[in-house]
Amino acid sequence: ELLINQIAAGEVVERPASALKEILENSIDAGARKINVQLQQGGVKQIRVADDGIGIAKDELQLALTRHSTSKISTLEDLYQITSLGFRGEALASIAAVSRLTLTSRQAEQGHAWQILVEGKSISQPTPSSLTQGTTLDINDLYFNIPARRKFLKSEATEFAHCDEAFKRIALSQSGIEFVLQHNGKVRRHLRAANSAQRIASVLGEEFQQAATWTDEQSAEMRLHGMVALPAYARSSRDRQYFFVNNRFVNDKLISHALREAYRDILHLDRHPAFVLFLDINPESVDVNVHPTKTEVRFREPRALHQFIFHAINKALASPHR
Ligand code: ADP
Ligand code: MG
Repeated sequence: ELLINQIAAGEVVERPASALKEILENSIDAGARKINVQLQQGGVKQIRVADDGIGIAKDELQLALTRHSTSKISTLEDLYQITSLGFRGEALASIAAVSRLTLTSRQAEQGHAWQILVEGKSISQPTPSSLTQGTTLDINDLYFNIPARRKFLKSEATEFAHCDEAFKRIALSQSGIEFVLQHNGKVRRHLRAANSAQRIASVLGEEFQQAATWTDEQSAEMRLHGMVALPAYARSSRDRQYFFVNNRFVNDKLISHALREAYRDILHLDRHPAFVLFLDINPESVDVNVHPTKTEVRFREPRALHQFIFHAINKALASPHR
């Protein structure tokens, strides 16, 4: 079982940033309003995420670390109605197999928090602990027990940059949640609860927001809203392409193609525009169960979606609106 989890970890936890993404998604699924992230040494030494969500009951703590154990879906059919970010029940078990992990949690009705420690094969019994509310997950020494794997990790600065990117993706899609990101004891980002336009400005900078046009288009099946940079925004845009499908970050060729086509059609420019766009669509029209790291999805009607996005962006670029 430990070996299986360690093999799975190779896929789910490629680097500190992938662990961070999974943990942040869990905090969001738990209804957190405030999430605090503390990293040490690019996340390799420590990733600590504290949330104020619903918490985990004492009796469920050990279960949460068991492979294929999820509280989020119970039948295969649920997968086609999914509104939570997680559903595989794989992340915590995988992370626990390759780190020294402490899970502390308190549900509102409990008098105090409970904590379990995991290292390799051993999971401790819950012991009383203190926490006002929610869940704190402490991941230490990633890949301490797989030195060969640890060698694939890059410099501290590079691993932090990946963590920051994972953090930004989550923060952009959850503007109503307050986030703090600390690295080696320094606050690197503090994002207060805001609306989506304010959050975009605080994550990508005022200069992006000022050189972008707003779009909000709706059809019977879907809604697309967010911002696309106008040509005045000269910054490199390859790393500023954020597309979210039902608040899940998605990297999809069809979508970038539709955007590029719209740019070419209206502005006669051949470039990859920067954008932050949110697509809300019936969960039944999209399959999120394509890959464990889940930045790929499959659309039931890709052509209709391509057209919808193309027309929405076309319109936004033709008459820029801020
Ligand atoms: P999944 O998210 O796919 O269900 P995970 O391995 O990420 O699987 O988490 C396992 C379970 O642990 C979740 O289904 C949830 O019940 C619980 N859990 C994990 N993190 C939190 C959290 N921050 N707050 C509340 N419950 C959590
Ligand atoms: Mg999860």
